[in-house]
Formats: sequence, C-alpha cells, structure tokens
Amino acid sequence: MDFKDQVKSSVDIVQVVGEYVRLQKGGAQSWKGLCPFHSEKTPSFNVNDSLQIFKCFGCGKGGDVFTFLMEHQGLTFREALEFLAERNGIPIPKRNDGPQADEAARLRGALLQMHAEAQEFFEQELRGESGGAARAYLKRRGLDSEAARTFGIGYAPQGSRLARRFESAGYRESDMAESSLVRKADDRPGFYDFFRDRLIFPIRDAQGRVIAFGARALTDEQQPKYLNSSQTKIYDKRAVLYNLSGAKAGMKKSNRVVLAEGYMDVIGIVRAGVEEAVATCGTALTPEQVRTMRRLADTLIVNFDSDSAGRESAEKSVEKALVEGFHVRVLELPGDLDPDEYVREHGADAYRSQLEQAPPYYSWLAERARSKFDLRTGEGRVAAFEFLKPSIHLLPDKIARAALASELAERLGVDSGLVLEEFRRSATERSRPAPPAAPIHSLSPGERLLLELFLDEEEARDEMLERTAELAAEEGWATQGLFGALAAAAASGPFEFTAFEGRLEERYRDMVARIVFDRDRRKVSIDEGRQAFLALERQSLEKRYRAVRRRIAEAEQRGDQAQALEALRERLDLERRLRDLEK
Ligand SMILES: [Zn+2]
Repeated sequence: MDFKDQVKSSVDIVQVVGEYVRLQKGGAQSWKGLCPFHSEKTPSFNVNDSLQIFKCFGCGKGGDVFTFLMEHQGLTFREALEFLAERNGIPIPKRNDGPQADEAARLRGALLQMHAEAQEFFEQELRGESGGAARAYLKRRGLDSEAARTFGIGYAPQGSRLARRFESAGYRESDMAESSLVRKADDRPGFYDFFRDRLIFPIRDAQGRVIAFGARALTDEQQPKYLNSSQTKIYDKRAVLYNLSGAKAGMKKSNRVVLAEGYMDVIGIVRAGVEEAVATCGTALTPEQVRTMRRLADTLIVNFDSDSAGRESAEKSVEKALVEGFHVRVLELPGDLDPDEYVREHGADAYRSQLEQAPPYYSWLAERARSKFDLRTGEGRVAAFEFLKPSIHLLPDKIARAALASELAERLGVDSGLVLEEFRRSATERSRPAPPAAPIHSLSPGERLLLELFLDEEEARDEMLERTAELAAEEGWATQGLFGALAAAAASGPFEFTAFEGRLEERYRDMVARIVFDRDRRKVSIDEGRQAFLALERQSLEKRYRAVRRRIAEAEQRGDQAQALEALRERLDLERRLRDLEK
C-alpha cells in the first residue's frame, strides 16, 4: 500500500467532513448537511460512508476526502495528505523538494511554524519576569495561570526579541515580512516586533492551529486598545472565528452557537461551561462567518453588550444570520453586564440559565419596539410595526414571514388587515418548489441494480463486471460508457470510486452520484445481481433470436440458401444458449 492509500484507508470522510459540517443521517450509508461550498438553506450536500465520497447536488462539487480538504481548506494535495497523516499518526515519508515544489505551500508551512513558535514565546513571557503587569490584569479579570494556559493567553514583551528569534532560526526575510508578527524597519536593517507590551490571544483555524493573534493594550495610554494580526496567507480575517476549533464539538452536540463580542467574553462563557462560544476577530460579522457557523448549528444566540454600540452590532449580526436561515435568539444580560463580568459576578449556573431563557429574536425586537414607541396611540402602533417590518422581510421563507408578521401585529395591537396584506400576498405566491430530482435516464432497473452492486462488491465485480460491460457494448446500451468505465477502473488495481468517476463521461456523473446518494438505496445481494444479469442476457439473446429468425425468412424468400443456412446455424447456437440460461 502506498502512502496515499495508507492515509485514505485510515481516515473516515464522514468524520473529516463532520468537523466542518453538521451531518445528519440521510440513508443507510449516506449523510446530509449544508454545503460548505455554496450558500444554501436546505441540505443538498451528501457524504457516503461506504464509498468515502462527498457530492453536492446544489453546486456540483464532489470527490474524496483529499478533494474535500483541498477545496475547503485551500490546501494542495500534498498538504491534505500530510494533514491527515499527521492527525492519524502515520509517519510521513520524506520527499524530494525539487525547485518546482509548491512555493505557496512552503510559505504557508513557514508561516504556521512561525506562529507556533510565537505562541510558545508569548506564553513563556507571560509566566516570566516581564509578564507581571499582564498577569495582574488577568487576575483582575478573574483568570489564574491555569486558565491562561487553557486558553493559550500570552504576553508580548517590549523590544524585538521575537524578531531576533526568527532571525537566528534562519527564516527567510521574505517569509518574515509576510508573517505580520514582525515588521521590517524603515530606517535600519532587520525586523522589529509587531506586538509589544500587550496581552496576547491566539487565533486558531478550524483545526486548532495558531494562525494569527489578537492583542490587547494593558494601559489606557496604549493605542489602539485592540491590535490584531493583519491578513496573511494563512489568516483570512473575514472567514475566521475566534475559538471555532474549541467550539465545534459543542456546537454539533447542542446544535447552537453563542456569538459574543470579544475574546474575554468568549473565555468567560466557555469557563461557565458553555463550550460553543465564538467571536469575530475585531471585524463586523461576515456572511462567510455566518455560513461557517450555520453548517454546524441551527440556532445562534447573540450575546453582545447591552450598550447602544453593542445593540447596534448585535442587530447587524442578527440580520446576516436570519438571511442564512439561522434561528436567532438574543441574550441581554441584566445590569448591562458583558458575559465575562456577568459570569464573574453571578456565577456559571446563573449565566447558563440566562442563556436557556434568551428570547427568540422577534420577541426581543417586539419588546424593543414596545419601549421605543407609544403603543397607546394608533400612530405609535403602526410606527412600531414599521420598525419591525424590515427584519421580518429578512426571513427567507415566505410562509414563515406571513405567520410572524401576523403574530407581531397581534402582539403590538396593530390592525392586522391592511398592514399584513403585503406579507400574505407574498406568502400565497409560494416560494418556487424545489426542482424535482432529475430522472435517472436510460437506466433499466436491472442495469441500475448491477451498477449499485458493482460499486459495493468486489466479488460481484470479479464475477460479472466484464461480461456486463461486453453485453452493454454489444447491445449498445445507453449506459455502455458507464459499465466500460467501471470495468476499466476495476481492472487497473484496487477499486476506487474516484478513479471510476474520473473515467466517466460528464453526462453520467450526476446520474451516478444520484444513485449513490439515493436515500432509499438498500444493499443489493450478489444473488439479485446474478438474477439481474441473467435477465439482461436473456433479453439480449431473445432479441437476437427474433432478428435471426427474420433473417432466415428473408433469405429463404430470396432463395439464398447459403445465407439461410448460416443464419440457421446462428439460430441453433442462440437456442442452445437460451436453454443454458434456464439451468
Ligand atoms: Zn454545494
């Protein structure tokens, strides 16, 4: 077994994909979830256990575990391979790095290495002599050294010692310049540290590797208060969420995610026993981040500060989340406390019970409308409803929109008649029905059964695949290319679905994928396969038998004895073969 096969046989695609997508059982061997490659509200993304492949019927993306990581994480094939090998403890064979070795992959490797070293350095510094003020700050926020270690918090000292470390470790200057950890000095040779005298929070990718840092000032004089790594080849701030790698498991388990405003808030929430907390890294929430969360959970609980800036960014975040089909709830903690403060003052249990009671977004919004407008007057009620309308329009589903509109109108005491007309109208227009699954063209039940069997069973491939491919070619079946590709893939070594798919003509691909991911698909036994094959063979012989009888009659009519005799011989042969089939 070569390295690639070894890696492939030791990983489960359902598990790997499951790290990024909340998968639910779709059929006996298949799983379904929201596609990570395009935006959607109902799942058309499928993963198949037994064939170890994925396929999206929305955008068409599909492949094996390597393709998934390459496309989703932007890795090269080699990086995907090494990533999986590393996680499964498979030793990675040395390779000859020719001059053509992928430069982008090399740079990413160097940047990750620099971040891992910086992380270690910052953590050491926090424990060391220069970290006193940082430790005191953490202590004021209720974090001891144990907690600091859990969250990887560090301290970036004054001076440029990190730059000196990188230089003496022999990093290329061009790599250092790309890292956003050190900067090139304008007025003298060499680099200086980007983060100085700051508390450091590591920002990790979905797999938990440090790819950037967020840094907080320790004194009021220091500006800006928060300083973050800039965009690099390993850090896309529009896509990354703080603590996603730590929150993933909890998100999948609880089917919800808590969105907080800052690093300390996330840490406070996690310490209260709620793992599934994330934050953006000092930017407004992006649609990309919303989709990343949406693939792992159905409910989003926004827990921002209760001040007006916090409310405003909460509202903006909520709008984006509604558009992506999230169920949104809003948690406003009493006493205008942020999550971190609240947990410190009232304890973990109190926070968790606040979280459980967080109202759905629309109830929260209705309460805001109540406090903003005078509902005792007709104008006030209409104004309150107008205030809510834009948010209602964000709901992707028209029926749900109309239902919500009438519920809110009732709550606010607005005359539902006129105001709701527009929502009702759009609801009766009904959203376009989902396109029906494309019919599986030109595939008889017997052919389909054989195809399924051949995909699953080596024994069946050995026994019948070649003959089936021959039969398909002789008979000119519409699927002859399909069985031909299957036979060719099986003949060229251990059978792999992706190798088969690679040989398939484009027009067959979607059909095959639909069969593989058919949720009603059941396991075909080899006996059923034999029956199906025999039936197809019989059909073929009978067709030829009828044709040969016609030829005999025609030859006799023409008085062509030689032709008639030749055809008769063929007829006898066919009769014998048909008799054999009955045995
Ligand atoms: Zn897709």
